[in-house]
Amino acid sequence: MSQAQPKPQETAMTFTLPALPYDKAALEPHISAKTMEFHYGKHHNAYVNKANELVKGTPLEGLPLEKAVVESRKQGGAVFNNIGQIYNHNLFWKSMTPNGGGQAPAPLAEKINEAFGSFDKFKEQFIAGGMGQFGSGWVWLVSNKGKLEIVKTANAETPLTDGKTPLLVCDVWEHAYYLDYQNRRADFLTVFIEKLANWKFAVENYKA
Ligand code: MN
Repeated sequence: MSQAQPKPQETAMTFTLPALPYDKAALEPHISAKTMEFHYGKHHNAYVNKANELVKGTPLEGLPLEKAVVESRKQGGAVFNNIGQIYNHNLFWKSMTPNGGGQAPAPLAEKINEAFGSFDKFKEQFIAGGMGQFGSGWVWLVSNKGKLEIVKTANAETPLTDGKTPLLVCDVWEHAYYLDYQNRRADFLTVFIEKLANWKFAVENYKA
């Protein structure tokens, strides 16, 4: 009897790389397929693999992602950096859509006017937030108990651990824009807001 026995079921990995919500060339000409290959295929994938390796046999193994972000933040270090980066990138891909941008729809339009004065002032402050993040990090539009704010975070930090609800996020690590924009971070941030921002996703997050 040489038939192979079924293998024992392998333990499911705690974290997985989610499929991109669009084809990797779908954001061209604003973000190239080549950037997506590196950013999603190499960087994001590496955070997932490293985080799975680091949580193995620890109390973080098997936790849902958002809970793992909050719990790992208490200890910091490599385990938080990798888990935080999974969460941040998951939101970043969804924060963009082909033919995105334009004005924010209701109910966010009104909330943006309340918080920033006008959509143009919001745009200016979002870009300034991304420019003001020295080194690697992220710029976010968040809801702080219903009030909108722009927040910047360094490295893998996320407003989730401050109890704020992320609505939209832009990655300002150099790996996000260097192949397409070299050092021109402001151009990348402008394109993100004007051509790519997924307001439908932001509204869903606001209502959640
Ligand atoms: Mn990134």
